[in-house]
Amino acid sequence: MYSVPAASLLRFARRDIGLAAMNKSWSPEIEAFRREVRDFIRTHLPDDIRCQVAEERMDLPREDLIRWHKILHEQGGWGCPGWPVEHGGPGWNFEQQYVFERELALNDAPRLMIYGVGMLGPTLMEFGSDEQKRRFLPPILRGDVYWCQGFSEPNAGSDLAALKCRADRDGDDYIVNGSKIWTSDAHHADWIFGLYRTASDGKKQHGITFLLIDLDSPGITLRPLLMFEGTHEVNQVFFDNVRVPVTHRVGEEHRGWTYAKYLLGLERFGTAEISRSMASLGRLKTLVAEIAADAGGAYYRDAAANVEIELRALELTERRLLFGPGGPDAMGPEASMLKVRGTELQQCILELTMEAMGPAGQIDRPRDAQPGSNRTQLEQAGRNYFNYRKTSIYSGSNEIQKNIIAKAVLGL
Ligand SMILES: Cc1cc2nc3c(=O)[nH]c(=O)nc-3n(C[C@H](O)[C@H](O)[C@H](O)COP(=O)(O)OP(=O)(O)OC[C@H]3O[C@@H](n4cnc5c(N)ncnc54)[C@H](O)[C@@H]3O)c2cc1C
Repeated sequence: MYSVPAASLLRFARRDIGLAAMNKSWSPEIEAFRREVRDFIRTHLPDDIRCQVAEERMDLPREDLIRWHKILHEQGGWGCPGWPVEHGGPGWNFEQQYVFERELALNDAPRLMIYGVGMLGPTLMEFGSDEQKRRFLPPILRGDVYWCQGFSEPNAGSDLAALKCRADRDGDDYIVNGSKIWTSDAHHADWIFGLYRTASDGKKQHGITFLLIDLDSPGITLRPLLMFEGTHEVNQVFFDNVRVPVTHRVGEEHRGWTYAKYLLGLERFGTAEISRSMASLGRLKTLVAEIAADAGGAYYRDAAANVEIELRALELTERRLLFGPGGPDAMGPEASMLKVRGTELQQCILELTMEAMGPAGQIDRPRDAQPGSNRTQLEQAGRNYFNYRKTSIYSGSNEIQKNIIAKAVLGL
């Protein structure tokens, strides 16, 4: 039985933000920009890709992600919406980037190729050498190289600084031994960026080094890890005496934790996925509108309305935090609140969809079947419900986010 999580965290947001920001409507310029983006997506997004996203899939084939990225790239660097003009991006301000990503989500366009575009690219712009910027940024911009993120290890997830995968210096190379786990998209990727232990004395955050590794290097093997419902999204990556040139180190040796904190900070806003949940809710509403009164129609419509109220409240909260005084840079524990609440509602919508579909929601259509009608996307409801349990684990588990809220907001 679904339940809209009752204890709203929204009241914990203490920042003094005016109602004007909360009720913010877009300026005429931003509204024109929004229309331009929406028209572009609706005209250029290939229907076969849109259908897969509308099925709530996150395991899109590499070629589809790259095909869409290249379509955006040709529009003036739109594939890298946060990048400045000097690196080939569109040079948009923060409001434009927000509106752009919102339109992608509302129109069932794929998520951005986040590891290169949203994480490594900006980190290299900040901390990379000129040679690294020259070599690695243009292929990310064009969508020619696919990156994945190698941070977590067995026994080093929430406690990331406990990582043990070693990189020992040998002349002009490091020799890497150990493994990374839960590596999303490593089976699609050409390169992996990650954190490696170069010293074990002192605080565990010290002695960590940030390296860029070609996944074709001798000594690397991948093991697929299947999700509960069978999709292949994550992997374990094994390193056996893998040679990595010192020139592929970002910044200074042993200071990787600083760069990783910067990189993880870039992830703070997207994890609530509010606009994606709006699109999912739209599908749920279409479904429940068809459920007859004697089959529980009123119950489901009531439930969908409750979720919509919560989701809209969260959207307003996100907007007043992002566009209020101080903007996103003033965001502290509020980012944790958005992540917890956003993923709770995301899971709630998919649970309700599965429940409303009844036995039909358990149909396990193979992923490689031709994507189809709205009906078939709802028939994935059981699969989607189980798949999205992951969202409250990754990007900092919800328990860890609650610890942050408890400490920083409640003073516990
Ligand atoms: C689908 C998916 C994709 C991922 N993709 C990537 C990726 O691409 N790259 C990458 O590096 N990592 C990735 N991860 C790893 C992810 O970041 C970790 O799973 C996450 O940080 C949790 O770490 P863990 O799995 O080791 O669990 P643990 O840290 O062992 O936690 C186990 C449980 O204990 C709870 N817990 C732990 N510590 C505390 C505490 N102090 N207080 C209260 N509760 C606590 C956790 O919330 C969790 O419920 C992915 C994970 C998933 C599920």
